[in-house]
Amino acid sequence: MRLDKLLSNMGFGSRKEVKQLLKQKAVTIDGEVVKDASIHVNPDVQHVSVYGEHVQYTEFIYLMMNKPPGVISATEDNYDKTVIDLLDPLAQHFKPFPVGRLDKDTEGLLLITNDGQLAHNLLSPKKHVPKTYYATIDGVVTEEDVQAFKQGVELDDGYVTKPGHLVILNSGNQSEIELTIQEGKFHQVKRMFESVGKKVTYLKRRSMGNLHLDETLELGDYRELTEEELQSLM
Ligand code: URA
Repeated sequence: MRLDKLLSNMGFGSRKEVKQLLKQKAVTIDGEVVKDASIHVNPDVQHVSVYGEHVQYTEFIYLMMNKPPGVISATEDNYDKTVIDLLDPLAQHFKPFPVGRLDKDTEGLLLITNDGQLAHNLLSPKKHVPKTYYATIDGVVTEEDVQAFKQGVELDDGYVTKPGHLVILNSGNQSEIELTIQEGKFHQVKRMFESVGKKVTYLKRRSMGNLHLDETLELGDYRELTEEELQSLM
């Protein structure tokens, strides 16, 4: 990889800004000052430093975001802010994308990465990665709904869902539930409740596979996955 690309990817500014660093003799490879931006470097075996600080090159980035309502789970959008717009420029350098989608008004756990293989594995219908949602529902959620979801319900387009695990946390005029599903059809949770004549009024994803939302993250905040969290997804 070209030295200027590597440093730019690692957050040392644009290629022009990296050139300035090189001019200032701030960059060394294996202890030797380098001034040529186009030089090729192998970060696995060569030791790159900027102002004496070792640059730890990583190819992939893995972020957990507590998605706020009002932003789109996409990399770009002509009208609305996207989850990628909420990332700092350093994270954006990695060209990450959200793994799967949450609706504009849905909150909660969103994994953002540039690791296409991991994303593919998590989203593959064959892998049945469970996703758990917390929701408030307009209306009384009943034991019949629990049983119906267990059997699988027919959505408005005729698709019959795989079994869903519905737990009633609080049943009343505004019920609170937790629902675990193993698929990711468009608006699935909302449409499952529509199929039993009820409306989701608030939706938040709590987990995806072994990854649980860090409840200390404010809406719109994100952090890198810990090594343990990452391993649990692999
Ligand atoms: N199901 C929905 O209806 N919406 C989401 O955002 C996620 C799952």
